[in-house]
Amino acid sequence: MTNPFLSLPYETALEDLGGDYYDLVTAAEFPQYLLRFRNDALLKILGLDPQQVRDDDFIEAFGLFQGVRPFLALRYHGYQFGEYNPYLGDGRGFLYGQVRGRDGELYDFGTKGSGRTPYSRTADGRLTLKGGVREVLAAEALHRLGVTTSRCLSLIETGESLWRGDEPSPTRSSVMVRFSRSHIRFGTFERLHFFQEPELIAKLLDHVIAVYYPKIDPQAEDRYVRFYAELVQRVATLAAQWMAAGFCHGVLNTDNMSIAGESFDYGPYAFIPTYNLDFTAAYFDSGRRYCYGNQPGICKLNLEMLQAPLRLVAVKADLEAELANFSEYYFAAYQQLMLQKLGFVELPEEMARELVGQTVQLLQESQVAYHAFFAGLAERFDREWRSSVTRVIEGVDLPREIAEAWCETYYRCLNELPGEEMDRVRDRLRERNPKTALLRPVIESAWEAIAQEDNWQPFHDLVAAVRAKD
Ligand code: AMP
Ligand code: MG
Repeated sequence: MTNPFLSLPYETALEDLGGDYYDLVTAAEFPQYLLRFRNDALLKILGLDPQQVRDDDFIEAFGLFQGVRPFLALRYHGYQFGEYNPYLGDGRGFLYGQVRGRDGELYDFGTKGSGRTPYSRTADGRLTLKGGVREVLAAEALHRLGVTTSRCLSLIETGESLWRGDEPSPTRSSVMVRFSRSHIRFGTFERLHFFQEPELIAKLLDHVIAVYYPKIDPQAEDRYVRFYAELVQRVATLAAQWMAAGFCHGVLNTDNMSIAGESFDYGPYAFIPTYNLDFTAAYFDSGRRYCYGNQPGICKLNLEMLQAPLRLVAVKADLEAELANFSEYYFAAYQQLMLQKLGFVELPEEMARELVGQTVQLLQESQVAYHAFFAGLAERFDREWRSSVTRVIEGVDLPREIAEAWCETYYRCLNELPGEEMDRVRDRLRERNPKTALLRPVIESAWEAIAQEDNWQPFHDLVAAVRAKD
């Protein structure tokens, strides 16, 4: 039987751009290959039937690396915590291949933990098993929450012992395969700016526009500004999605910003326990640069820094004019997403603003659990809330003195809708607010079962729970 992963419709979009953007690399050999996670939910988009794909197919393709194309370590630089770093690049992963999905879109398979490359410097090119487990979980939870995110296709434990300062060591090793729109980063362009290569910037931009921005006329003279305009919109929307989801990415360096506007690369991320703008996910982020509340501002700053490379092919004032729209896009998207989390699609503008504003204020002042507040709303919502404010006050699980004003506003908003809309409010509340939140203690407890007893059941249960729609 042939391996279905090896006969997918691979394309050579990035490879065809030539060797200025990457180096050819090979994968490391590992002592062991144990498939720990396979994302059957992604197979459909690849036109594969999970029943027809064996665990060994995953291992052969994504562990032993029987690829069909050369592997490309992509070249990039980036601003890390505000400092320019010209020594980045794919140091522990590579572009395994690009595949046309059944939806007509082009997708990347990117590895993480697959061995050393010319960009590894002194590091080992490896991914810890815990790091892999955490990225799988983040991507599935974010996807469920409606965030535009990469996913993980597979996680294979590879039998090495790794030493890390931030995990009890020795710790176990893994190789993950990421499924995403693109591994081209803001930092990919920053590197080309560093080397003053306007032609290479234009060529890569034309590629990005053709593949990821199909609405832009590839012949238009102002296509690079059009591209930037849409990127500003996508990134503002993504920042709003993280904020509404209560997610703190943790390391928003420009090498972790996708040119397709997709969320990816989950290291020390965390979901916020309570609404706290200062909440910081990465232990090494002592200045709180990438704290929860800074995410929109940092995204805007990263977009601003991307203007430096783009200025080699576009007019500065035009780029600046597009970036000026960021805040408007961000607030509109955040407002809309929060409204949906509260069960609404549309309300008169002033009411919408009041409801979202009061909700955020309630979450901040009461410091109730962020995710549990919304999940509780979804669970307790009753169509009778529309008929009396007392029912709302009795229904929400908060002390009356804290929640009364909010309940009155919520009650008024419900009365903006006809009675028969209440079932849809309930459906939206459930759709937008999953019961299980991927809080740190939840991840840690799934990990402890793996670390102490090699028991993978809690991890698989957690994947199922964060995906669940009930
Ligand atoms: P990250 O913090 O994962 O976004 O990675 C930042 C940079 O460090 C990238 O260039 C990575 O390829 C590189 N890097 C991180 N961890 C390792 C590792 N264990 N081995 C080699 N390179 C690494
Ligand atoms: Mg990265």
